[in-house]
Amino acid sequence: MNIDILSVFPEMFVGPFDHSIVRRAQDNDLATVSVHNLRRFSNDRRGIVDDYQFGGGPGMVMKPDPIFEGVETILMDLSQIEMAKTRVILTSPQGNMLTQELVVEFAQQLHLIIICGHYEGVDERVRENLITDDISIGDYVLTGGEIAAMVITDSVVRLLPGAIGSQQNLLGDSISSGLLQHPIYTRPAQFRDMNVPSVLASGHHENIKVWRRRKALERTLERRRDLLDIQNLSSEDRDYLESLGYNLNR
Ligand code: SAM
Repeated sequence: MNIDILSVFPEMFVGPFDHSIVRRAQDNDLATVSVHNLRRFSNDRRGIVDDYQFGGGPGMVMKPDPIFEGVETILMDLSQIEMAKTRVILTSPQGNMLTQELVVEFAQQLHLIIICGHYEGVDERVRENLITDDISIGDYVLTGGEIAAMVITDSVVRLLPGAIGSQQNLLGDSISSGLLQHPIYTRPAQFRDMNVPSVLASGHHENIKVWRRRKALERTLERRRDLLDIQNLSSEDRDYLESLGYNLNR
């Protein structure tokens, strides 16, 4: 997969993309992440990419021409097959919320182009005519789209086959599995006066499996009841939820 990021602060990406899974995925040719300085696509000698707002108002707006130019330059080199599997993503607090479902969809593409806004945001013509997806990473306002682009890239790249040691690791992840993950522990079995639950050290695989499933259900019920999809739960799961006082018919 190729990921192209357009930003006025490309130096921000040095570091986050040079470590861990995103680095490894690049080293193993699973992904190529290229960060482009948007100023390079400005037709202004000084590389200006923003201007005053029509109608007045505080803050500068990112001009449409460097963004169109940048995206079109990248698209120009793509084959038709790649083009059909390319998404052009605008980062914006007004966009659709990034969910694991969307991340899976993005991970199935061949190419992602991510536009990082700044200042007051980008000229609306970019949203109306250039992008395929308008994506927010949460209900809060960031200074710029760089951190959002990092979040999108990281969440997508870890899903690429081979990026993580075992695909099995991904299946139990919170949200992806439909529940929050059960609590996890490592050695030492006793730390100060805190012990690891004895079942986990018992070596009894069936009991461990049941314990983990129940803890995942409890945790999801406590923290993210909205995730519980009763139709997709087993009768054991439902019985357990009922034993916790959860009304399955609500
Ligand atoms: N005035 C804009 C508005 O109300 O929609 C917000 C502009 S924000 C200060 C500057 C840039 O940060 C945005 O163009 C976008 O690229 C990025 N950004 C801010 N919050 C974001 C979020 N929650 N998710 C994704 N990108 C965000």
